[in-house]
Amino acid sequence: MIKLEHVSFKYDDNLVIDDVSFEIPENKITYIVGVNGSGKSTLAHLISGLIYPCSGSISIDDMDISKKTSDKDIRKKIGIVFQNPSNQILFTSVYEDMDFMLENMGIDKDKRKDIIIDSLKRVGMEDSIDKNPYHLSGGEKQRLAIASQISLNPSYLIFDEATSMIDINGKKELYRLLKKLSKSMGIIFITNNMNELMYADRIVIIDNKKPYTYEIEDILKNNKILTEHNLEIPFIFRLATKLKIKDKKYLDERKMLGMIK
Ligand code: ADP
Repeated sequence: MIKLEHVSFKYDDNLVIDDVSFEIPENKITYIVGVNGSGKSTLAHLISGLIYPCSGSISIDDMDISKKTSDKDIRKKIGIVFQNPSNQILFTSVYEDMDFMLENMGIDKDKRKDIIIDSLKRVGMEDSIDKNPYHLSGGEKQRLAIASQISLNPSYLIFDEATSMIDINGKKELYRLLKKLSKSMGIIFITNNMNELMYADRIVIIDNKKPYTYEIEDILKNNKILTEHNLEIPFIFRLATKLKIKDKKYLDERKMLGMIK
C-alpha cells in the first residue's frame, strides 16, 4: 500500500499540496483526477520519489520515501511513465534503450537480455526488440516506456497524463494493458480526461487541495459526486445511470450498447 500522511509541498511560496492524506492499494487501478493546476503531477512526483514533501510522510509498502532515498531502491518499488513518450528514449534500438536502464540499476549483464525479452512480451512488443524506438508509434513508445519500468519488477506503476499525446488506438491498447498489469501491481493513473474514468477501480478526486476517495461503484450509484467536485460526468457514466448499471464490469461500451438494443 502507498500511504500519504499529512503531506504538504510548496514550490517557493506556492503551497500546492496542503496536508493531504490518502492511501493507494496494491493490485488495483487508482485514478487521480482534478482540474488543471490542482496538483496531480506534483502528487505523481511525490509518490514516485522524484521530489520530497516539506512536511508529512509518504511510504510505499514498508519503505519511507519522504526523505532522500536511493533512486535504485525507489525504482524497484514504483515505476513512472510520463506524458511525452519521446522524452524517455535515449538510444536507437529498443534493446539498447532498455539495457542501458537495467545496467544503470546494477542488473548483471547475463540476466539483462532475458529480463528485456520478458518485459517486452508483457507489453506485446517482443517483435520490436531490434527496432529504432524513434520510429515507433506514440502508443508503442509508451508501451516501451512501460516495459522499461516493469523490467525492474516494481510493485506500483504510475502514469502521469500518459495517454494525452497518443492516438485513440494507442490509448485503447494502453487501457487493456493497464487492466492486465493491475493483476500483478498497483496502477496509479493521473489524468484530466474524465472519459478515462471507466477504466478505474477507484478514484481520488483532488478538489480544493483535498483528496476524496471513491470506489467506482460509488460513482455508478451516484454520478452527481463528480459534479459536486466540479468535474463533468463522462457520457459513459450518464449512460450507465440511464441503464441502471451498478456493477463496473458492465462499464464497457459494447456491453452497454448491447443492453440498448
Ligand atoms: P496538475 O497536474 O493538476 O495540472 P500541477 O501539479 O502540474 O497540477 O501544478 C500545480 C500547481 O503547481 C500549479 O499552480 C503549477 O503552476 C505549480 N507548479 C507545477 N510545477 C511547478 C514547478 N516546477 N515550479 C513552480 N510551480 C510549479
